[in-house]
Amino acid sequence: MKKTIAILEGDGIGPEIMREAVKVLKAVMDKYGHTFDLIYAPFGASAYFSDGSPFPEKTKRICDEAHAIAKGPVGLAVEEMDQIPQEHRPELGAILPLRKRYDTFANFRPVRLPVGLKSFSPLKDEVIGEGIDILMIRELVGGIYFGDKVEGAATEMKFARDDCIYKAGDVRRVAIVAFEEARKRGAKLTNIHKANVLATSRFWREIVEAVAVDYPDIPYQSVLVDNAAFQLVVNPTRFNGVMLLENMQGDILTDQAGGIIGSLGLMPSACMGPEKGYVEPAHGSAPDIAGKNVANPYSMIGSIAMLFEECLALPEEAADIWNGIFEVFEDGFITSDLLVPWHREKKVLTTSEFGDRVVQNILATIA
Ligand code: NAD
Repeated sequence: MKKTIAILEGDGIGPEIMREAVKVLKAVMDKYGHTFDLIYAPFGASAYFSDGSPFPEKTKRICDEAHAIAKGPVGLAVEEMDQIPQEHRPELGAILPLRKRYDTFANFRPVRLPVGLKSFSPLKDEVIGEGIDILMIRELVGGIYFGDKVEGAATEMKFARDDCIYKAGDVRRVAIVAFEEARKRGAKLTNIHKANVLATSRFWREIVEAVAVDYPDIPYQSVLVDNAAFQLVVNPTRFNGVMLLENMQGDILTDQAGGIIGSLGLMPSACMGPEKGYVEPAHGSAPDIAGKNVANPYSMIGSIAMLFEECLALPEEAADIWNGIFEVFEDGFITSDLLVPWHREKKVLTTSEFGDRVVQNILATIA
């Protein structure tokens, strides 16, 4: 298969974890005889400093022409953000415009902790039971992140306002994606909302429940977001299956999910639109560990597996990458983010050693 993939390394640990992901991508290309042109383009805070924009025109052109996009995390440490004018900061100037450009409304964030990796989690073995396997599907181009943002002065006092808007079509299309995924997995669907307080959440729940009528075979439950935050910690497996979340609630609960499985470094994702998708780790640029070769590249390598599966419809290649990743852990290795006192017997790998081992595992199974 011949394809063009845009590679946006991003900021902080982005270039380090992308380097490992590209190693894996090239190993899979070699193994399966694919010819992919990998075109690198600047994106994020580094692009603002090099090109004057966090999402430069040349990057837009490269992304437009690519079949799929692999994006690393972007952003600076909070105290460094002041160097960049508000409208050019990576979230407002790069991530949201990228999502809008390709209308990537469905964000797939798998939260997987197979039973053999229970010890990565801060939760007790009994809480994890037979393992965590949740696909969080977050609506990605609507809600409060995309509504008007106003900071101003009323006659008496200063104020700020963020508008949260969902249209029926926005909710319906992501709900359909979520129910289809639940059907594919033979799993239940949990709809998350805050309908006891928010009009947009009542509307969200109403539309999702109208879609549910077309999926009588899918067990359905609806849970308030605050209760879901609590239940994710005390009883995460009750969500095994698909969880459907609106944009901001999804942003928050998916980070919490990273916590319950042991690290944000275990959180890959795919952002899918009607014609094109891109993949990215669910976490940020981790400025606290950037440049040290200690970041966990699972999130970026797993995102490449999702690129094969979701963007290129090549599930066999995707499965090969997942097996290659999990084999590293099964062989007794971990990365430093997963290092807790009860892992003293495990060998800690650097970012690049982890990538090398995944490549080795993938190539070891060439017939
Ligand atoms: P973060 O997600 O970057 O890091 C939170 C914690 O998780 C840190 O301790 C970090 O070291 C750790 N961590 C994250 N990824 C890891 C990995 N792969 N391996 C090991 N440890 C990992 O959150 P933050 O520090 O609040 O944000 C840093 C920057 O990232 C900010 O500028 C923020 O706006 C941005 N951000 C970007 C995205 C994105 O690109 N989609 C998402 C979230 C945050």
